[in-house]
Amino acid sequence: MLFSTTEVFKATVRQYTIKQQRPVKLVKNDNRRVRAKCMGVVGDDMKCPWEVYAAKVMGESTYQVRTYRSKHKSGKTYTNRNVTSTVIGKRYMDDLRVNPRMPITAFKERVRKELKVDVSRTQLYKAKRKAGKLIYGTDVEQYGRLWDYCEELRRSNPGSTVVMDAPMDDQTGQPKFNRLYIFLAAVKSGFLGGCRKIVGVDGCHLKGEYCGQLLTAVGVDPNNAMYPMAWCVVQNENKDTWSWFITLLKMDLNITEANEHEWTFINDRQKVFPIQNLHLLMYTLA
Ligand SMILES: [Zn+2]
Repeated sequence: MLFSTTEVFKATVRQYTIKQQRPVKLVKNDNRRVRAKCMGVVGDDMKCPWEVYAAKVMGESTYQVRTYRSKHKSGKTYTNRNVTSTVIGKRYMDDLRVNPRMPITAFKERVRKELKVDVSRTQLYKAKRKAGKLIYGTDVEQYGRLWDYCEELRRSNPGSTVVMDAPMDDQTGQPKFNRLYIFLAAVKSGFLGGCRKIVGVDGCHLKGEYCGQLLTAVGVDPNNAMYPMAWCVVQNENKDTWSWFITLLKMDLNITEANEHEWTFINDRQKVFPIQNLHLLMYTLA
């Protein structure tokens, strides 16, 4: 078997031994060869014969497995040093993104069941911290690509309204994200073509590195189901940001003073909601 780098080879060996429930150790590890041996307990000073050895192919950049003794004499174990907090953090990153408050006891149970290994609570706290860094790291990267994202939306869905507000920051001399509004063309024509003129608007907090708030507008489709329309990411929910959102929304839905009596807006009666700024018939829910 061939591997592109020693890193890929080592990662594969690690995954394999976790599945096998046996700890391994790299007894040789340089940029030309890697040898991994089983550290599992056999008893009476006997050593487990399992080992794998890969070396660089002459004149190529790939690594090839040269020796592989696949039989273990050691027993399976729930103690495996190869399952580090980094390994656990990476493995459970997606779960922790959805459920960042996963209790340590439940986390421990899952790791025991799925990775077949007992880990300490300290290790799990570390794993959570590392997963958090990975998740927030991708947040930072993704905010950095927002211009590209907006461009791609406009290209792939012409007629969409994509408005980003990122004024120049005096301190850094670079644009700094303030707010973003998105209403996709396909969603727009679907709403105007087949939905009643009822719009529900609400806001919620965003999690992650930058927090901020998400403002959304939702309609009702002909099956009486929810029809998500426009959304907007802002730093705070206040009169200014709501006005910005509603102004853009009115433009997208062609709401004018002449036809606004046909429209119904529903909101949860937040104090910050700029009702007085809206020349619209408002129904508010208690
Ligand atoms: Zn073994």
